[in-house]
Amino acid sequence: MEKTKKIILDERELPEKWYNIQAEMPNKPLSMLNPATKTPLKAEDLYPIFAEELAQQELNQTDVWIDIPEEVRDLYKNYRCTPLVRAYGLEKALGTPAHIYFKNESVSPVGSHKLNSALAQAYYCKKQGITNITTETGAGQWGAALSYAACAFGLELAVYMVKISYEQKPYRRSIMQTFGAQVIASPSMSTKAGRKILTDHPNYQGSLGTAISEAIELAMNTPNCKYTLGSVLNHVILHQTVIGLEAEKQMQIAGEYPDVIIGCFGGGSNFGGIAFPFMRHNIKDDTKKTRFIAAEPASCPKLTRGVFQYDFGDETGYTPLLPMFTLGHNFSPAHIHAGGLRYHGAGVIASQMLKDKRIESVDIEQLDSFKAGMLFAQTEGIIPAPESNHAIAATINEANRCKETGEKKVILFNLSGHGLIDMVSYDKYIAGDLVNYSLSSEEIAKNVSKLEKIV
Ligand SMILES: *Cc1c(COP(=O)(O)O)cnc(C)c1O
Repeated sequence: MEKTKKIILDERELPEKWYNIQAEMPNKPLSMLNPATKTPLKAEDLYPIFAEELAQQELNQTDVWIDIPEEVRDLYKNYRCTPLVRAYGLEKALGTPAHIYFKNESVSPVGSHKLNSALAQAYYCKKQGITNITTETGAGQWGAALSYAACAFGLELAVYMVKISYEQKPYRRSIMQTFGAQVIASPSMSTKAGRKILTDHPNYQGSLGTAISEAIELAMNTPNCKYTLGSVLNHVILHQTVIGLEAEKQMQIAGEYPDVIIGCFGGGSNFGGIAFPFMRHNIKDDTKKTRFIAAEPASCPKLTRGVFQYDFGDETGYTPLLPMFTLGHNFSPAHIHAGGLRYHGAGVIASQMLKDKRIESVDIEQLDSFKAGMLFAQTEGIIPAPESNHAIAATINEANRCKETGEKKVILFNLSGHGLIDMVSYDKYIAGDLVNYSLSSEEIAKNVSKLEKIV
């Protein structure tokens, strides 16, 4: 029989609604808290920072399905539905009986899944009459996606880019500037949050936590301006469920159902995006036992080694308090090349699910992640983003286990992006210049002990 290599859905199959798993979780996440009053957060509390519809989506625990606006679907159609691909080359190289599939989000015009939420967020801002938006970016994937989305909806965008990435990844900056965005290295002297950290640590190379503080501050001080975030929050993960909803239809066409679903984990948006539409079946049908694995970097292991506690999403403490697995909002992760995974906390839905043992987490060393990415590139012809390499490494570990036991498991992972603008990191790996970063339990405990205990 001829092999099916990839499963393409016609654009008419593009989902019409996003899936809001909050409405169906047996144990709902704890409330987020207003940082000033420490009382449960209301959507109105978020209006000064976020577009109103996004604030409402954030706290929506009742509507299972949320319409994808026509304007957003139109732009999705420029690159969606994305292909589902059977990784025959990788299977063969591993000699595994497992069937490995990947959802290829790297085909988006900016190279990653981030555009799925960027388009939605820009749309809701525009609809509300907002003229300016701000954001932070680490490796630059979110900034690149939002720059294009802002351009598509005619919004002005200012991006705070983590300084080390600003210097290491100049082409992402060029991409943002090509779409018309203003890009500022963070920490900067343009905000109170930036000035404070630069005064305390003049050589600080930046972190997502700091860049978020700067972007929020600018949004709060600029008329008709809102802040947008590329991961962590519930509304972002909601938008990313378009990935899993398509994959569900595609797996059906392939005639298989995944036993294991894997995504790399920064704040949890691509992981939740591919996982939650399938998790729905685990929740509704006790016979469904799909395992969900979040793959995080060993240098930033909030799910694997962090604590579950209320914490801020940013360095300065402008965000609501989120009940999440965290390493502490002032945690400064090692400068690994998977910049998109250098974030101290995990989204509240995934955090609750880890507590409830509905998902698992693994941590992957930097060298293992690149080794996996090299093998994937050589067997499947796509150079993955350094972030995605963590999902691939976890997939390879699962497939190798199947080789030992002879099990023909079906593994589905999300290829969150391509690495064509991250070749400096591959160069360093090939030259033997990359290292692993170990993080001692004492370091984690010390950082976490600084957190204020809320409940
Ligand atoms: C940002 C990013 C990630 C990590 O963010 P999540 O919200 O956890 O998905 C992973 N892969 C790529 C390619 C990214 O750009």
